[in-house]
Amino acid sequence: MAGDMNQGAMQLAALSRTGGRTRTPRGLSLATAPTDYYNRIENYAQKIRETQDVRAIIGILDEALNETRALHTANEMAIVRNQVVLAEQRIEHLKGELELVNKLVREDQLTGALNRRGLDDSLAREAARAERGGTFLCIALIDIDNFKKINDAHGHQVGDIVLVHLVAIIKETIRSNDLIGRYGGEEFLLLLPDSRLDEAVAVMNRLQRELAAKPISWAKQRLLVTFSAGVAARVPGEAVETLINRADQALYEAKRVGKDRIIVAS
Ligand code: GH3
Ligand code: MG
Ligand code: MG
Repeated sequence: MAGDMNQGAMQLAALSRTGGRTRTPRGLSLATAPTDYYNRIENYAQKIRETQDVRAIIGILDEALNETRALHTANEMAIVRNQVVLAEQRIEHLKGELELVNKLVREDQLTGALNRRGLDDSLAREAARAERGGTFLCIALIDIDNFKKINDAHGHQVGDIVLVHLVAIIKETIRSNDLIGRYGGEEFLLLLPDSRLDEAVAVMNRLQRELAAKPISWAKQRLLVTFSAGVAARVPGEAVETLINRADQALYEAKRVGKDRIIVAS
């Protein structure tokens, strides 16, 4: 990760250095380019060197990209248009790579759900947003029933297929601004921003029905999987840890009273 970031700073720094060296076919130095463009690019490179946050770096690259695009319209830059286009492409490419890295470090490799890092970031962000805007935020902690038995009876690979299948169904069922993350081995955390408790419960009921309607099938075998879940609605001022604890207790209760059910946290 640090390597990618350093590469980002180095590439931008290289762009700024180009200003001092490169000559156009007509022999004019790029240094004749609009006054402080290269200085500002060097500033962006410096900012990138100083940050560890990939999202912040992507933001800085966006600023650099806007600055570079603005040069298209600057008359005095007509002479170095090709270099400007090249610079733009390099920044775009770098930004694309960083966006990919940013996605990969937040994603669970097996299921494509968010991983713990991605979940923690999203939870903090959504809780802060709910607090700021006085909006709803519900979470659901989902745990596959008897997963150990599935592994034991059919093998670990089938267990993995079950995890992938569940996440695929969850993704089909939720709205575009809802988020799903892998909380632990066969436990998942669903984040439902702007959802009231009854709406969150309705989503979970729908998920249960979808899973029942779509058993996992492989090599002429069919496997019906169920889950238990605890659903909690964030109350104003509530810490994320407390919210998760309440959902966890509801999940525990769902397991205790017989599994394959959804319980609302108190
Ligand atoms: P319960 O209904 O009470 O939730 O029982 P359970 O068997 O689902 O729960 P338990 O916590 O006893 O077992 C979870 C199992 O999940 C144990 C572990 O081997 C398995 N597991 C964790 N991660 C993975 C994974 O990535 N792939 C597979 N196949 N199994 C996993
Ligand atoms: Mg478990
Ligand atoms: Mg389980």
